[in-house]
Formats: sequence, structure tokens, C-alpha cells
Amino acid sequence: MKLSHNVLIVGAGPAGLGCALALQAAGVEDVVVVDEKGIGASFEAWPEQMTLLTPSFHSNNFGFADLNAISPETSPADFLNTQHPTGKDYALYLRAIVKHYELSVEPNVRVTSLRRVRDAFEVQTSKGLRTSRFVIWAVGEFARPDLGGIEGADFGLHNSRVRDWEQLALTGDVFTLIGGYESGIDAAIQLMQLGKKVHLLSRGHPWDSDDPDPSRALSPRTRDRLKNALLEAPGTIHFYKNAEVLAIRPVRSGFELDVRDGKPFHSPTPPILCTGFRSAIEPLRDLWEWKKGSPIFSEAADESTLTPGLFYSGPSLQHRGMLFCFIYKYRARFGVIAREIAGRLGIDIGDGLDLWKQRGFLLDDLKCCSDCQCAVEPEQDHQLNQHAEVIEYAVAA
Ligand SMILES: Cc1cc2nc3c(=O)[nH]c(=O)nc-3n(C[C@H](O)[C@H](O)[C@H](O)COP(=O)(O)OP(=O)(O)OC[C@H]3O[C@@H](n4cnc5c(N)ncnc54)[C@H](O)[C@@H]3O)c2cc1C
Repeated sequence: MKLSHNVLIVGAGPAGLGCALALQAAGVEDVVVVDEKGIGASFEAWPEQMTLLTPSFHSNNFGFADLNAISPETSPADFLNTQHPTGKDYALYLRAIVKHYELSVEPNVRVTSLRRVRDAFEVQTSKGLRTSRFVIWAVGEFARPDLGGIEGADFGLHNSRVRDWEQLALTGDVFTLIGGYESGIDAAIQLMQLGKKVHLLSRGHPWDSDDPDPSRALSPRTRDRLKNALLEAPGTIHFYKNAEVLAIRPVRSGFELDVRDGKPFHSPTPPILCTGFRSAIEPLRDLWEWKKGSPIFSEAADESTLTPGLFYSGPSLQHRGMLFCFIYKYRARFGVIAREIAGRLGIDIGDGLDLWKQRGFLLDDLKCCSDCQCAVEPEQDHQLNQHAEVIEYAVAA
């Protein structure tokens, strides 16, 4: 069969473009990136006010890559002159990368299905059939909100659907948030700073978590922002811990939320669900092996263990119980995927990926992902506890 491409990458976000750059450095030709919308579309859809929480800092000359860079030689901080880019800023950086490195990106091409035929893939797209020797699935999670299994979730609003907190704030004075991780706390701060009263209900109390994995605990930046916001206007966020919302119902005066082991909670405005996202692998469920609800990735190169030649890059990646959900984590595997594909195509990489290895974009020793000892016992967050009003929901009920 005459193939359209060596490698077809689905998704022109940081993961797809990062893989395209690594493949270029490895000398792989005939690589195309397709995207149903365009370059950095998920970042374009972020609320106006939201910024990356991982800080950007240009230190390449000292051998460290900017935490938000998708290649060893670029820096969003240097390019955008900011430490915490907005979504629109970051999309600008991605577009500049595509232009500078002359990557082949086709917008407005939606992949609807793919299947392996002998040693290649037939990929159905909104613009017709493509064939490719390898496929890298890099569609991200942003388009797949997790509604947390809450009955009547459609009466609420998932935080990924908010385009502008200022506009939303015009719709009421009191808001209820469900979920207390990064998105929930960000939403709480945004609304509080707009003079709104916020009730934040959470299954546990993640704002107090001391998990060593930054994917499972609040980032220092978010803690700082929260502390500052509370100091400016203490008491305008009410935290309800152990308040697991089971259902949302419209009532005459707004919405009623059923809370496990607690009395119903009333919200005058549609509750905002900050309940996370579903795996990017879900659309390819049958092509992937799953264990306990999570997809399995080969440790050799993040490939499907069921479908050879199908790779994944992005925030749904997991190895040894660790989540690779930030850019600085999953980019560590761009070089690994590129090296594997180049090897199978019989390409001599030479020193093409040396810099990628030196700067942490080719991490092939996953020992770092297990037995994480990086956290010492954290200091108690006195300031947060002093200024926040935390209510034990079940007891209060
Ligand atoms: C609220 C929030 C805050 C975050 N903050 C940070 C942070 O501070 N630091 C950090 O490192 N990470 C952060 N992240 C995570 C970061 O945004 C993701 O890791 C990143 O967007 C994932 O990149 P990606 O390339 O996998 O997916 P995306 O950026 O979502 O790109 C996927 C692309 O695939 C396209 N696509 C989807 N389906 C198809 C299809 N069927 N056919 C063709 N194209 C398709 C989409 O249009 C999209 O352009 C945050 C995420 C969220 C939601």
C-alpha cells in the first residue's frame, strides 16, 4: 500500500507539536500534524484570565529548559516575556514554533476513526482517508470534561466551558463550586476577586494535601494566590470538606445539590463543576489495554500494548502510578517516542536527539517515577488555615 505519511500526529497542542519537533530532530520525514480546529486550540479556549501555573523562565544557556517549553531550545518566557502565560499567549508560542521549524500542520481535519491494517493505519478524517505507518494520538483532555458521575450535572457548568470569568460574574452574586483542586481554587479566586461570595464543596480537602506529586496537590503558586486573596477579603470563600455532591436539581430559587451524608445544599446560580477531565485515550478505548480504569502504556515508548505503531503523548500518560499531566512531565517522553519510530524506520539518528536527552526531553529511565522521595514533611499551612473558613460538611449537616 502506498502510504500518505510516515507519521500522522492527531492534535496540534503542545504534545503533538513536541513530538513533531522530536521526530524532525531524529531525521524522520513525512510527518504531518492534523487538528480538528487549529494550533493550540485548547489554549485559545481557556478563560481570558487563566494563566499557566507552572512558571516559565528562560535558562537554556545553563542547560535547563523552561518548564513550559516543548523543545530544548525554545522558551515561552523568552518569547512572551511573561512568567505565567495566558492560554492565548501560549497558543502564540505554539504558532511561532510551527512557523519557525516549518512543521506540517493541517487545521480543520478531524480524525473520526482509525484502524490498523497489516503494518500501517487507515485513518478516517473529515477530509477523507489517510494512511500512515505510525500514528501518535495527542488529542488532549480539554474537550472531554469529567462530570464526576453527578446526576443532573447538565444543570451545572463545567469550568472548561467558561470563557470569561468577568462575564460569568455578571450572572449572580453567590456561586457554588464543586471540586477543590487547581481548577476549583482558580475559579474560587477569580470569582472572589470579582467581589462574589463563593461556596466550594469538595469530596475531601485537597487544598490541604501534602502529596509529593504536584499533580495531586495544589501548586505553590495557587497556594500563594489563595493566601493573598484570603488576606485581602477573608471569609468570602467558604470551603466545605467531605462534601461529595451526588446530584444537582433545579428548584424555584436556583439549584439544590444532594451531598453524601449531609443535608441538601442550595445554590442560587448553576453550580460550576471543577471536576477534571476524562482520559484522552477514551475515543480509542478498543485499541488500548486498560487496567482498573486506566490505559496502559508501554514503558519502552508510550505505545499501545494492543496496537503496535500507535503511540500516545500528552497529559493522560501514566507510568508506575505517576501522572505525566503537566507539560514538563510528558515532554520528557517526546524524544523516547521519536527515537523508537526513527529506529523502526531504519533511520540513523546520529546525535540528533542528544540535546533532547541532555535537557530532559528523552527520559527513558522511569525509576524517577517510582519511589518518589522528593517531599519532606511539609510545613503546616498556617496562613491558609487561619484565614479560610473550612466547614466539615457532614458534621455541619
Ligand atoms: C485548567 C487547566 C490548567 C492547566 N494548567 C497547566 C499548567 O499550568 N502547566 C501545565 O504544564 N499544564 C497545564 N494544564 C495541562 C495542559 O493544558 C495540558 O497538558 C495540555 O493542553 C495538553 O496538551 P495536549 O497537546 O495533549 O492537548 P491539547 O492542548 O488539548 O491539544 C489537543 C488538540 O487535539 C485536537 N483534537 C482533539 N480531538 C481531535 C480529533 N479527533 N481529530 C483532530 N484533532 C483533534 C484539539 O483541537 C486540540 O487542538 C492545564 C490544563 C487545564 C485544563
